[in-house]
Amino acid sequence: MENITLNNGNQMPKLGLGVFQMNDQQVLDTIPMALDAGYRLIDTASRYYNEEAVGRAIAESGIAREELFITTKLWFKDHGYDNTKKALQVSLEKLDLDYLDLWLIHQPFNDYYGSWKAMEELIDAGLVRSIGVSNFYADRYADLVAHNRIVPAVNQRETHVFNQQIEMDQLLKQHGTVLQAWAPLAQGNQEAHTNPLLVSIAEQHRKSIAQVMLRWLLQRDITAVVKSTKKHRLRENIDVFDFTLTDEEMAGIAALDKQQPLAGFTHDPRMLERLQSLD
Ligand code: NDP
Repeated sequence: MENITLNNGNQMPKLGLGVFQMNDQQVLDTIPMALDAGYRLIDTASRYYNEEAVGRAIAESGIAREELFITTKLWFKDHGYDNTKKALQVSLEKLDLDYLDLWLIHQPFNDYYGSWKAMEELIDAGLVRSIGVSNFYADRYADLVAHNRIVPAVNQRETHVFNQQIEMDQLLKQHGTVLQAWAPLAQGNQEAHTNPLLVSIAEQHRKSIAQVMLRWLLQRDITAVVKSTKKHRLRENIDVFDFTLTDEEMAGIAALDKQQPLAGFTHDPRMLERLQSLD
């Protein structure tokens, strides 16, 4: 697995396993298969309600802690300076870890400025190696950078062939923040997985469409967390370091961009209602 160097000098694997929408049993079944395939980054969140299972799976793996890269996320109901410090203890306890490799603010809502201040101190205390954000749009990201000491190491955003995040990626690169794609396979969206251009590029390289989609991200210097519960797909999704898309293929895929997210809070006219309804 290749690594990328973050803006604080820490190394992060370019691809990781995401465990969103996995129940405890799926986590316990999938993580050993993923570690065996070569994954070292595991991406969870307190909101995925599976941190304990992640902790158990990595403890049972016997792999040295320093070889793993564990990410979890802070939910916005825990935002604010004091709540954030408490939330870290809860996540560390559930994950059965002494420190996190990466802690992300899951959503840019509520008092995330208070949270960021606490997270900066938790970096200084050695309890978190890197801090970052997720689902931050340009204005919120720029404001956070402008008014705080630590620049986010990562912004995790929905990024795939139909939602390419060209401008976001440029902004992040200006400040040394790594774009980490969530839903890099467009969550299995059929339109992406049957697209004629992607089919022909995949045939040309004797690779799958999923592999082409992941390779295209890596060649843009974008990292990704990808989810599968199936052994053959876990192996397939990580086997993307032995081929190169041509400039013409990269340009062809660039033309597929619709700048259209699959889902999310942003720009949802019922956003306030949705925020108030979440626990
Ligand atoms: P992905 O784009 O990773 O797609 C996952 C889907 O694609 C699953 O249905 C999976 O099915 C299928 N799939 C996996 N591999 C292949 C393959 N090789 N060929 C065809 N289909 C495949 O979407 P996710 O939403 O799961 O995103 C990945 C991770 O990103 C999450 O697990 C989570 O960690 C993170 N995330 C973060 C968010 C945030 O707000 N920060 C929001 C959403 C996700 P199967 O399991 O059956 O293989």
